[in-house]
Amino acid sequence: MKILTRIFVVLVVFCGRAAVAQPAADAIDAHLIAARNAAGFDFAGTLARLCIAPPRVTGVRDVAPGPAPARETWFAEPAKVFDNLYFVGSKIHSSWALTSSEGIILIDTLFTYNSEEEIVGGLKKLGLDPAKIKYVIITHAHGDHVGGAKLLQDKFGSRVVMGGPDWDLIERSVNAYPLGKPKRDIVADDGQKIKLGDATVTIVTTPGHTPGTLSMIFTVKDKGKPLTVAYSGGTAFNFPSTVPNFDTYINSQRKMAAAAAAANATVLMSNHSEFDGAISKIKMLAGRKPGEPHPFEVGADAVARYFKVSEECADVARLKLK
Ligand SMILES: [Zn+2]
Repeated sequence: MKILTRIFVVLVVFCGRAAVAQPAADAIDAHLIAARNAAGFDFAGTLARLCIAPPRVTGVRDVAPGPAPARETWFAEPAKVFDNLYFVGSKIHSSWALTSSEGIILIDTLFTYNSEEEIVGGLKKLGLDPAKIKYVIITHAHGDHVGGAKLLQDKFGSRVVMGGPDWDLIERSVNAYPLGKPKRDIVADDGQKIKLGDATVTIVTTPGHTPGTLSMIFTVKDKGKPLTVAYSGGTAFNFPSTVPNFDTYINSQRKMAAAAAAANATVLMSNHSEFDGAISKIKMLAGRKPGEPHPFEVGADAVARYFKVSEECADVARLKLK
């Protein structure tokens, strides 16, 4: 009798706990399933990075860059991808040259160690003049995107556009720029249009990955056909893992999804090949047959699903903090 009572008490306590724990676990599962469904086969890299055990981050470190890795680990050939958009990135990180009637708008600048060869050298290989880079838009002030900003500012007098909080990050940094920092130039505003000749890039501020992360909307042409690009400026959760930081990140994913939908964006780009498959798509482009769709033209539904993946995975990480 005594044993039966004890089992009953244990069962009551156990079930009581399960009743509390279950809704949170159910909610996490629901967000995971939603993220998986949104990713499909298009965004497996983004899903893997954001939803499969992302690390918990306690603080942002201001460290000096390490030695340059072996060239064969990062070097990629430049490529013409659209009539007016050229890839001058590496195997891992993207840098894009948007050409116009008045010169070039460059988006992101890789690391300090590979920006000269990939960007300056890449443009020359493609028959473009790097001295015509009038604007450099930096999505955020991490070493893998801002590394070439100083070079382009010093060498060609290019105007550098960045979010205000990320200019602040650069100015506050003690260790991250041993070869010098880019000088504060244009501070981007939400909705700002960077215009050069017949090209316009519309800035969408998407704080989260860093406080000043910039995403953008612009138009490319595929054999004369205009297509709208949604460019996501910051993706991974390497900011301090707190509920308010995830709330900021989630709001930015929704904001960018709405901006992409309003512009009818059918092309999704990011600054890491891991997230948008840039390197594979550029390879596919080389084998494209007449009449086949451009590998980067995924459609408005897939663009919406991309931002759903990042939003849902952030919901998972946020719920796990509680
Ligand atoms: Zn980053």
